Amino acid sequence: MRAAVITKYNANWEMQTLPDPRPAPGQVVIKIHASGMCGTDLHVHHGAFGLPLPIVAGHEPVGEIVEVGAGVVDLKVGDRVGVHWNQKGCGRCRICQSGDQAHCAQAQSWMHIGGGNSELMLAWASGCAILPEGLAYENAAPIFCAGYTVMSGLRNASPKPGERVAVLGLGGLGHLALQFSAAVGLETWAITGQANKVAELKTMGASEVLVVGEEPGKAMLDAGGFDIILSTTNACKQVASAFGSLRLNGRLMSMGVTTDGPIAIDAMSLLLGQRQLRGSSQDERSDLVEALELVAAGKVKPMLETYPIGKVNEVRDRLAAGKVRYRAVLTHG
Ligand SMILES: [Zn+2]
Ligand SMILES: [Zn+2]
Repeated sequence: MRAAVITKYNANWEMQTLPDPRPAPGQVVIKIHASGMCGTDLHVHHGAFGLPLPIVAGHEPVGEIVEVGAGVVDLKVGDRVGVHWNQKGCGRCRICQSGDQAHCAQAQSWMHIGGGNSELMLAWASGCAILPEGLAYENAAPIFCAGYTVMSGLRNASPKPGERVAVLGLGGLGHLALQFSAAVGLETWAITGQANKVAELKTMGASEVLVVGEEPGKAMLDAGGFDIILSTTNACKQVASAFGSLRLNGRLMSMGVTTDGPIAIDAMSLLLGQRQLRGSSQDERSDLVEALELVAAGKVKPMLETYPIGKVNEVRDRLAAGKVRYRAVLTHG
């Protein structure tokens, strides 16, 4: 199989021919049709996770099952599936025994058995979700990280009818968060640093768009404040500033991979406003299913740039330069 292999950090990924994988018990082999590229892949590229090399990245893979390992009974050859990040827990720890294998500290992911930037990919059957009928592979791919993450963020915020939501950071995750929130009937504002996105964000369902700088809090407060902030920004300073615009009992869901130090929140602002700062990642599997169904129904439309897998390095550079609108998907074959 052909695959984009990371052989060295901060260097171009190499298109190589690797042996076709065979499934262990409990695993499947997927012929990959599309693989989304996530901001996290840039951290992988820079060596932030300290993964042993060589490795194949790609954690938004979708395709068709071509082989099932021993003991796989629910999935069949020909099934159209995608794979989420944490595929299988140890099965034995307290978290797994409580039914939440995806949050097991020993969970198996693409980091252990390879990702989707390849013609064929191994996955644990428990990490595969069946695509709704009619959902195109390209549109499904970004839901397996970006879409899943932000739908869990929205659900973990427990939105009530009539509440007002802000989405902070409008890239691959944020443009989906905006659409999911609007699709379930919530007044949703987009908070972006890029003025050239305003018209597009309105077409995606934003009630209003605020163009802000590094400290968005004042503009958000002047706009009346928010019950929920779905934050996908990577900048802790923006998160801390936005936090001050939460209404009484407001919740800020932090979903960005922040790398610029701690989030500095004033303790009195936390206390007196009864506000919450919560981290949220890919949580209940039902969040993923809900997100896939909203896309399949045409209520949410991932805005994509698609490229053949051979262009993987150009695509990664484009992502690093902040030029992708709004998610890049690599296609295979
Ligand atoms: Zn991701
Ligand atoms: Zn476990």
